[in-house]
Amino acid sequence: MTRAFVTGINGQDGSYLAERLLDEGVEVHALAHTADEPSAFVPTAVVVHHGDLTDVEGTRALVRDLAPDEVYNLAAVSSVARSWEAPDQTAAVNGLGAVGLLESARQVQEATGRTVRFVQASSAEIFGSPTVSPQDEDTPIRPVNPYGAAKAYAHLMVDVHRSRGLHAVSAILYNHESPRRPTSFVTRKITSTVAAIARGTADRLVLGNLDARRDWGWAPDYVDAVVRAARADHPRDYVVATGRSHSVRDFVAAAFLAAGVDDWEHLVSSDPALVRPVDATDLAGDATRARTDLGWEPTVGFTDLVARMVESDLQTVSAH
Ligand code: NAP
Repeated sequence: MTRAFVTGINGQDGSYLAERLLDEGVEVHALAHTADEPSAFVPTAVVVHHGDLTDVEGTRALVRDLAPDEVYNLAAVSSVARSWEAPDQTAAVNGLGAVGLLESARQVQEATGRTVRFVQASSAEIFGSPTVSPQDEDTPIRPVNPYGAAKAYAHLMVDVHRSRGLHAVSAILYNHESPRRPTSFVTRKITSTVAAIARGTADRLVLGNLDARRDWGWAPDYVDAVVRAARADHPRDYVVATGRSHSVRDFVAAAFLAAGVDDWEHLVSSDPALVRPVDATDLAGDATRARTDLGWEPTVGFTDLVARMVESDLQTVSAH
């Protein structure tokens, strides 16, 4: 039986990844960070180990004991906004923590003689504010925020470990969303607030830069790409993206449409205090390599994605 080790299990992607792996009959072990109890979305079949990725020795001992066949590093300080508040913690988790785990996987491979497949959840933020659009695996790495810089270091170290014989892959993930996104992220802030406005329990939606553009996809599709990347015959880095960017304003419009609210523009405002110090203004990824090598395709388009999130939030508001 294949055994997987997943970090960041309590996050949005962790639960989708666990569901996907368990469906395939994989034994899933996971690292849980702060929560005493796993998040409600984490399947009970997951074997949860408590720990901190920045405790490199503790995590290494766990990985050594488990000797997994596949390692998925999803743990991160995953919000750009949070990374500005805590650049040192971001470097420790997203940079050094990832490198510690890469080295742990390499040591298991060396000790067991079995291939260990490692996937690093990298990010489009490693490209910063690129001058080319869409970006692909050869786009220059020029991060513009602490999150992107720490992810860039881990991304480069994947390549270094690959050259040492580890089956290591960096999945350069563009934004992907779902009803499991916390409301601290702009997409879920939009859908939860729009649902509350539609139900009469909120009256305004206040955002930062409405013109920022992102390439937004459906989280389970991105987890599918990550698993395909782990299982590829040859380890390579993959951009995982839809290839189409939309503005925050587009997202807001789609959310109000999905909630059945027509006259909404006076309900939305932009607060300069919520605008990021440096914002990557337009990110769109070219996932040709993932499509060609991995047979990967996104299955949920932008309008459908927003509608699914709004529908889920409307149900949550109704339930209270
Ligand atoms: P998420 O919901 O924020 O989950 C990240 C997880 O990492 C959280 O469960 C957190 O646990 C854990 N974590 C944080 N610090 C840790 C530490 N020191 N030790 C161990 N675990 C720690 O993120 P996500 O949306 O699922 O994203 C998964 C990965 O993909 C992340 O690496 C993210 O940077 C990357 N990514 C995501 C997107 C996206 O759009 N979702 C785009 C590009 C890249 P606690 O909550 O318990 O602290």
